Amino acid sequence: MTKFLSVISQLISEDNILVLGHVMPDGDDISSVASLAEGLRRLGKKVRAAIDDQIPWYYKLFFAVDSIESFEQLQDFHPDLIVVVDCSSPDRVGRFQHLLKNSKTIVIDHHETNSMFGDLNFVDVTSASTAQIVYNMNKAMGVVYDPELATTNYLGIATDTGFFKYSNTDANVLKIAAELVELGAKPYFVASVILENKTPQQFKLLAKMIEHMKIEGELVYSWLSYEDYLSLGCNEDDSSGFVSELRSMKDIEVAILFTEFPKGEVHVSFRSKQWLNVSKIASALGGGGHARAAGCSYKNVELEKVIDEVLSLTREAMVGGRHEVG
Ligand code: 5GP
Ligand code: MN
Ligand code: MN
Repeated sequence: MTKFLSVISQLISEDNILVLGHVMPDGDDISSVASLAEGLRRLGKKVRAAIDDQIPWYYKLFFAVDSIESFEQLQDFHPDLIVVVDCSSPDRVGRFQHLLKNSKTIVIDHHETNSMFGDLNFVDVTSASTAQIVYNMNKAMGVVYDPELATTNYLGIATDTGFFKYSNTDANVLKIAAELVELGAKPYFVASVILENKTPQQFKLLAKMIEHMKIEGELVYSWLSYEDYLSLGCNEDDSSGFVSELRSMKDIEVAILFTEFPKGEVHVSFRSKQWLNVSKIASALGGGGHARAAGCSYKNVELEKVIDEVLSLTREAMVGGRHEVG
């Protein structure tokens, strides 16, 4: 039996299921959690869904996202099966991590850095998003889609491909997106909610990032300190997508954005264009991701020290230029 069918048969045979996503949730994660949980509910199962972090407000405009609960709300639930989606390592589920030891766990993911921490792991690195794996699983289980579920499921495919422009956009992505649109998904709704909801303060934060920007050959980087966020009344969600702006610069291979929020907690976002596998750098620093988009996080650190450490590792990785295609 293929791995895909093993996951399907486990999902079908269990009744009491918890679906978990990752901290600092992105569109793919939220879409995957909500779509899988809703799909399993439509098959008559007792399902709860949770993410141990804040969900940015605009994602709550999507169907089934309001069913995603917090760590505190989940205290009373003892699932027979946990399904972890879009997470490359067990620490990504935040405070839910301890539950993984006590329950049967299925991992559904697409990160090449996945540590295979489940009892059963379906990790398809050729898949641009976890949401499209979830769609294939829901379809195989006979889940009935309406326009609301189709739009929620489409969300993750759109966001993890940068709205169908990243290098992971292939025929399969476009075929699945088209199927979801046929089922009623609304591409314009998704694009306008995600891309056209920026506050004036976010534009000022973007200006701050551009002010701090430094270019070194094919590397561009910038940073936002906790003080920058505070002075503009912003939080970490407000800089979502900024690193892509850096990567959009001509003749750049690698873009790195350092964001400190709250004080002493630094997230590093890496993006590359053609040849540098940034997931290797992020993994070496305790994070992970994909060849063209990766990240890692630090606690109790000084922003300047993180910048120095990450830059020196990146410069080292870039020595010799484009020999490393991956
Ligand atoms: P972003 O830069 O948007 O935060 O993340 C880019 C990619 O790297 C995403 O696929 C995300 O899942 C992964 N990633 C970001 N931060 C971390 C981290 O701290 N740990 C791991 N394992 N992956 C991360
Ligand atoms: Mn994700
Ligand atoms: Mn993803």
